[in-house]
Amino acid sequence: MKLRYIDEFRDPEVARRLLSEIKKISRRPVRLMEVCGTHTMNIGRYGLRGLLPHHVQLISGPGCPVCVTTTKEIDMMIKLAEEDVTVATFGDLMRVPGSHTNLNHQRARGADIRVVYSSFDALGLALKNLKPVVFLGVGFETTAPTVAATIIEAKKRRVRNFSVFSAHKLIPPAMEALVSSPDLRIDGFICPGHVSVIIGLRPYKVLAERYKVPCVITGFEPLDILQGILMLIKQIEKGKAKAEIQYTRAVKEEGNWKAKEVMEEVFSPCDANWRGFGLIPQSGLCFKEEYKEFDVNSHFDIKVDEAKEPLSCRCGDVLKGKIIPPQCPLFAKVCRPANPIGPCMVSSEGSCAAYYKYRDWEIA
Ligand code: SF4
Repeated sequence: MKLRYIDEFRDPEVARRLLSEIKKISRRPVRLMEVCGTHTMNIGRYGLRGLLPHHVQLISGPGCPVCVTTTKEIDMMIKLAEEDVTVATFGDLMRVPGSHTNLNHQRARGADIRVVYSSFDALGLALKNLKPVVFLGVGFETTAPTVAATIIEAKKRRVRNFSVFSAHKLIPPAMEALVSSPDLRIDGFICPGHVSVIIGLRPYKVLAERYKVPCVITGFEPLDILQGILMLIKQIEKGKAKAEIQYTRAVKEEGNWKAKEVMEEVFSPCDANWRGFGLIPQSGLCFKEEYKEFDVNSHFDIKVDEAKEPLSCRCGDVLKGKIIPPQCPLFAKVCRPANPIGPCMVSSEGSCAAYYKYRDWEIA
């Protein structure tokens, strides 16, 4: 059966037309940041970086949830696994280095750590288990509504041995931190498709108006990305800064109100630390009083020493778009997917992993 839908979004003729329009109208050097690990991966997978005019630079931002999780948070998760608990986590987190070890090594040493595909699987473990089950909640606005729905279900079913380590992070405050930083120059944002399905256009309108930076919510197919870039360049060349939606087949201006409602039922925004950024106000999700019984902190006092960052790893600068992965001295030398030094090389959405996998460093 012919996959017409996918074919249309990968049509080489349309790609050529978009590229020629970009080349025709683009006059000034621009740095466009994609704020989503899936965009980073697909830019590499379809070789888009090498097709664009040299003065149109694509840089990756803090779009990988595992990568922006701090070493201290990883240490706390590892420490938690030393307790008499079942720790449930997404697979991506297993190899992320903490100060001294990672979850994978802890599991090999006997810790009860299970890889699950959703927070509901973790709740399922708690229903079958007498031991406490802790789900490691790492993710952006895309993941948080499902985790919140799981917590609501746990409350309804009076599950007493289930809790969540909330390391969730919110994307717009991180984008605001990037554009308000004096040492970073970002001319436009390729806004994340999945996150935007939930949050809609409004948060980007605020950013575009306040910081005069164009924002385009973009889908993930190669033509989506090229069209999103063209929309940004059109704005930049005309001196405009608006928030627009390229990914109209999935994103509504108001977002997904039901998902937002579920998330707001359980969590409220609070300050959070991000790898490379430090504290970003109102960029995390903390438990509301009515759901505190599911906060891991209500059950365990997790104390860890000061975190030790991986030696010479520049993940923090990669996540801020300050450098691109090949500018890290360890890239493709000491640090490779088989021997990752930092999370950006571990995660399937990490920039260093994307550059390495698609050999983008050769054209960077
Ligand atoms: S190449 Fe490795 S060490 Fe360097 S920034 Fe990327 S993950 Fe960190």
